[in-house]
Amino acid sequence: MTARYQHLLSPLTVGSTTLPHRVIMGSMHTGLEEKDGGEHELAAFYVERVRGGAGLIVTGGVSPNPEGAARHHGAHLTTEDQLPRHRVVTTAVHEAGGLIALQLMHSGRYAMHEHAVAPSPIRAPINKVTPRELSGSDVERTVEDFASAAYLARQAGYDGVEIMGSEGYLINEFLVEHTNRRTDRWGGSPPARRRFATEIVRRVRERTGPDFLVMYRLSALDLVPDAQEFKEVLALGREVETAGASIINTGIGWHEARIPTIATSVPGAGFTWVSRALRENLRIPIATVNRINTPELAQEVLARGDADLVTMARPFLADPAFVAKAREGQPDSINTCIACNQACLDHTFTGRRMSCLVNPRAMRETQLVLGPTRTAEQIAVVGAGPAGMAFAEAAAQRGHRVTLFEEQPELGGQFQLARRIPGKEDYQHTIRYFTTRLRELGVTVHTGHRATPADLAFADRVVIAAGVHPRRPGIPGDTGPAVLGYKEVLEGAPVGDRVAVIGAGGIGYDVAHFLTHNPSADFYAEWGIDRSLEARGGLLTPAPEPPMRRVTVLQRSTTKPGSRLGPTTGWIHRLELRMANVQFITGVEYREITDRGVRITAPTPDAHVHGGGGIALETPRVETLVEVDTVVLCAGQESRTELAADLAGDARPVHVIGGADVAAELDAKRAIKQAVELAAALP
Ligand code: NAP
Ligand code: SF4
Repeated sequence: MTARYQHLLSPLTVGSTTLPHRVIMGSMHTGLEEKDGGEHELAAFYVERVRGGAGLIVTGGVSPNPEGAARHHGAHLTTEDQLPRHRVVTTAVHEAGGLIALQLMHSGRYAMHEHAVAPSPIRAPINKVTPRELSGSDVERTVEDFASAAYLARQAGYDGVEIMGSEGYLINEFLVEHTNRRTDRWGGSPPARRRFATEIVRRVRERTGPDFLVMYRLSALDLVPDAQEFKEVLALGREVETAGASIINTGIGWHEARIPTIATSVPGAGFTWVSRALRENLRIPIATVNRINTPELAQEVLARGDADLVTMARPFLADPAFVAKAREGQPDSINTCIACNQACLDHTFTGRRMSCLVNPRAMRETQLVLGPTRTAEQIAVVGAGPAGMAFAEAAAQRGHRVTLFEEQPELGGQFQLARRIPGKEDYQHTIRYFTTRLRELGVTVHTGHRATPADLAFADRVVIAAGVHPRRPGIPGDTGPAVLGYKEVLEGAPVGDRVAVIGAGGIGYDVAHFLTHNPSADFYAEWGIDRSLEARGGLLTPAPEPPMRRVTVLQRSTTKPGSRLGPTTGWIHRLELRMANVQFITGVEYREITDRGVRITAPTPDAHVHGGGGIALETPRVETLVEVDTVVLCAGQESRTELAADLAGDARPVHVIGGADVAAELDAKRAIKQAVELAAALP
């Protein structure tokens, strides 16, 4: 064991269970929980993680009754005939040497079906369904359902359960006035509102016996109005402890909170101070969570005494061998989660199977297999952006001899730009990971050299991952001195105080944020998070710093700006720009770019009002000069096709992947997945 991670890697005995180290693999709803036969894939997913050093795993949320399931036919555990399915998973995990706890999660008013229930019939702002109010006997039955599901979990071979009491689900809804207006014994005062949670823990412990792990996920910071004061949170912690919980896991923020808690813009280990406050007041082990994605951060948090355990979920999607690599002292070989949410939570919230942008094998362990090659080939790869790096790594891992060419002095492609956006610094980890892996796998890398067909003559196979050119929109004046491309801006070209951004896609948003972000901004003050733990729910009035520039973003289409950004992160980007007073003009026709700004025609403001959201073509338009000092082009990309054209008719196999293949959908998730699938399909 490396001394570097001594806190992280030391065992912990909780009751009769010894955890091999201080990392819990946190709950993730994979989408396989309800799929017919999904238990076999789920077992393969967990087993790969146990082999990679995971100790205690917490499953995705399973409801104690059908009305608490997140969706129609969502996973629930109510009868013994469901046990064989669970035993496939628990047996596989135990045979591999791991431990596994079932998460019991009742969705309450977040359930997306007509049988949703809640303490009071108040609809959640993120759900279309108004829940039915639970009657007094319904509440009793629900407590019993939790106890019965925990008993069944034990019968199924689980080592414990995690009772989901945070993130705004049913138990959390009972705890706060915001969602609990009851006047019976389950509401009306803080102790009465806590009764549901403590009764569940008490009865779960009673039913499962003393030697079973009972974790409780405690909402330590609700981040919604009319929520718990921290003294109420502590009172609940003490009651839960007395009721028989073995570990308290920290929960931060309800899903409906308009404050980022796990997105890439949240500082690393940004909420462990809350766990520390719990730990100082409670006796049982406290686990901390949120944006801990490297062994260094986890070690720091534990060494500082903020928590006894660290829960990580997404980092185990990104790299199943996170713990083993830390144990072997190889942190640079860890494929680090960059908190983008693009293939994990965005998929879960839109009903798709979870995976990972940086590791497309996640949740496809049995299908996307990188076995040893039968015929080792010489493969030339052109372009070391996400697609080229991912292909080179996967092909070399299979035993091919890979040579990678990159025109720029460094590897990374578009990720070299992404990592410069405030809050996206973690994208650097992906570049570090691939750089390390390519070295470990003996890939020959030529940087600062634009590959010609002659350079590739040696190869049996060529993979073109040459990426994209930024699109020139063809607006008169768009080559003028005040016009810059987004790449130049992100690389540090001087930009004036008033800026027009042409294009409101992902890059237009990122560039507007880059240009307005005030480096003295404090994440907590900006979003209104009370670090003193005095304000109810942890909420203060947001106090953003003044923006660095006046930015106007323009787009031709009339759709709501930012509507194509990720479902779980788009709202953050939209709020960031709103806080920075960024203006948007939609339905624009570009006339000309001059030294005074951008001359456009756009629908009159009245047209927006009268158009009911959509603007008809015949709506009145006005000509306007958007007066700015600098214009930044963020008008999308076009594939780089030169090399593919040069190699047309080549007798060898030539593949085109990533942005060089499809620029319209340029995104790293698609690029990396395509690259790894190609490497897996080679002979
Ligand atoms: P994009 O999302 O396709 O947006 C391009 C923008 O340029 C659109 O707003 C489009 O709007 C405008 N445009 C297109 N052709 C134009 C023309 N000829 N003249 C003027 N405007 C034109 O592309 P992107 O912003 O470059 O992003 C590329 C990809 O990177 C995205 O698909 C995304 O996957 C990824 N990305 C995502 C994020 C994120 O989610 N935060 C951040 C960065 C990158 P109009 O046609 O309406 O004018
Ligand atoms: Fe992390 Fe992004 Fe992978 Fe999700 S998709 S696990 S956030 S890297």
